[in-house]
Amino acid sequence: MDNLAKTIMVTTKCSAGCVHCPFSSSEMKNLSLSVERIIFLMESSQEELVILSGGEFFEYGQLTHLFEKLKMKSIKKFRIATGNYIPLNSYIQELRNLQNLDGISIGTDTFRDNPDQWINNLRLLQTKHIPYSLTFTLIKKYPFFLDFFLAVLAHYTLKPQFIYLRVDEDSLIAKKDEIQKLKTYFNATPFIEDIIH
Ligand code: SF4
Repeated sequence: MDNLAKTIMVTTKCSAGCVHCPFSSSEMKNLSLSVERIIFLMESSQEELVILSGGEFFEYGQLTHLFEKLKMKSIKKFRIATGNYIPLNSYIQELRNLQNLDGISIGTDTFRDNPDQWINNLRLLQTKHIPYSLTFTLIKKYPFFLDFFLAVLAHYTLKPQFIYLRVDEDSLIAKKDEIQKLKTYFNATPFIEDIIH
């Protein structure tokens, strides 16, 4: 994925507090790019696709200004990456106005802390025809309740654009059953895999 798209970290801020994530560290400085810098980086990237990520994109301090710029017809195709713990209701109209939005990349790390909120966002995106993908990060020491997760997805017939699976080297063996379960469940969905080094 990194080779296909340019990732721009709009802010380091993220309040989700996932234990395995560097953005949760108290040592992480709270930094954000200016809107002008973000647009410059988008326009000057060689890749066809830009991913606007964090930290947490929806905690970026100048979202209204940024959304205005992202509406420009000339803006490069982009995705928004989110941890999906912030309700998206108040952003949905802005998201629908973004002509060059390729989709929302939804992290699954916060699912177990607040599954209702997490699933509500996906149902909202699906209802409003805003495409979304799911990113799974499997790390050996960090448990993930895959069976429950897949049961919820099946219940609501949620259909992501693609699955992005990130696995650390230890988990390739330790979590091979979970990886296989994911691939079986999403056998009709495009699947991208990455190893975390
Ligand atoms: S939501 Fe994403 S960026 Fe935020 S702490 Fe969790 S894994 Fe890190």
